[in-house]
Amino acid sequence: MAKLRAGVSSVNITPPIGIDLTGFAGRPSPAVGVHDDLHAKCLALEADGVRVGIVTVDLLGLDRDIVERVREGAEREAGVPRSNLMLNASHTHSGPATISLKGLGERDELYVEELVRKLIGAVKMAFDRLRPARIGFGRGEARIGVNRRQRLRDRTVIGRNPEGPVDTTIYLIRVDDDKGKPMAILFSHAVHPVVLGAKNLLFSADYPGYAVRLVESVEGCVAMFAQGCCGDVNPEVVGGTFEDARRIGTILGAHAIGVAEAVRTSEEAELRCEREVLKLPLQDPPSPEEAGRLVERYKRELREAIERGENRGQIMVREGMVRWAEEVKRLAEEGVKGLTCDFEIQAIQLSEEAAIIGMAGEVFVDYQLHIRSRSPYPFTMVLGYTNGCIGYVPTEGAYPEGGYEVEVAYKYYGTLMLRPESDRIIREGALSLLRGMRG
Ligand SMILES: [Zn+2]
Repeated sequence: MAKLRAGVSSVNITPPIGIDLTGFAGRPSPAVGVHDDLHAKCLALEADGVRVGIVTVDLLGLDRDIVERVREGAEREAGVPRSNLMLNASHTHSGPATISLKGLGERDELYVEELVRKLIGAVKMAFDRLRPARIGFGRGEARIGVNRRQRLRDRTVIGRNPEGPVDTTIYLIRVDDDKGKPMAILFSHAVHPVVLGAKNLLFSADYPGYAVRLVESVEGCVAMFAQGCCGDVNPEVVGGTFEDARRIGTILGAHAIGVAEAVRTSEEAELRCEREVLKLPLQDPPSPEEAGRLVERYKRELREAIERGENRGQIMVREGMVRWAEEVKRLAEEGVKGLTCDFEIQAIQLSEEAAIIGMAGEVFVDYQLHIRSRSPYPFTMVLGYTNGCIGYVPTEGAYPEGGYEVEVAYKYYGTLMLRPESDRIIREGALSLLRGMRG
């Protein structure tokens, strides 16, 4: 075991108004204002010459090229190896388009350029501030989420499924200075930040922002929220008000404070990182004839929507669906089969007792429950939306049930849906990464 040094930073990444929000289909306009500022935070850790950086951002997600540019810059500017930098997005649906989803908002390249520089700067600042530190781990509970895959007689809808799985656990890491005063509190929970719905046109960090600000005000340190595997978990209130977001964030933040106060910290740490890019199998495209019919159908729907005078956001979604169908048609005509999708899993060991594992997708919560209960580390923080996002990652059992996450969302994210066999590959991949790192 080695002595830990740590540093932390926080930068404001609120975009200018007038650029597109993302997360919901059919928003009538770009952002018209700012409700609460968006932030990026970095926790820098060093022990025995090993540097690890954990970055959290109040954004829906990050395109792969953004992740790679930040990692490259962070290696150059802060000496943290690319494979040792983790970037987690809170998945707020009231942030700018920093992940390219067809028809859900266009990326603003001027903003993205500035964002990349700010994230690299945040990493550099955190590593410039390294000083002797202590680290500890804790768990608590908050009941703010509900499984959202509601089964009707003949289909599955986004609603409420109180019998479905959730993880009520708050996973929390507290880093203190050598006097025992909190320097950073990183906590995770797995609930979609959609308290604010599609009607909201103001930038906001949604409920995690309220939770983080509460923790910061009480603990007097930088607080960071990391999103868990909330692919099928929604908050108790969806499409609500800022008051709803405040209430739900306050419940989470108040419980996190209770956990933080009970943590015991140690000056010893043993840092390690492991990373693997899995190849997940994709469905094959339909026949060229069927793909051609899809193109015609979406083009017709677009024409009709224009005639009806639908709003800008609704037209953008329909244009996105035409683009998707044309991509499917091209693949169908080329006769390609057996395609795969790269899926990054990254694991960080903090001590012999504690690790973080992050996956690049909207992963269903059952994976989080499975991985944490079989992990060789008694404390395992399992995250989704990490180092990019390939789209929804349902459980094998969810495929025959259908629903938004299985049948719709992949069209925004890419071209073809995952195959159910991905489930086993991810569980085995994640656990073997953790076991290999533990040694
Ligand atoms: Zn989502």
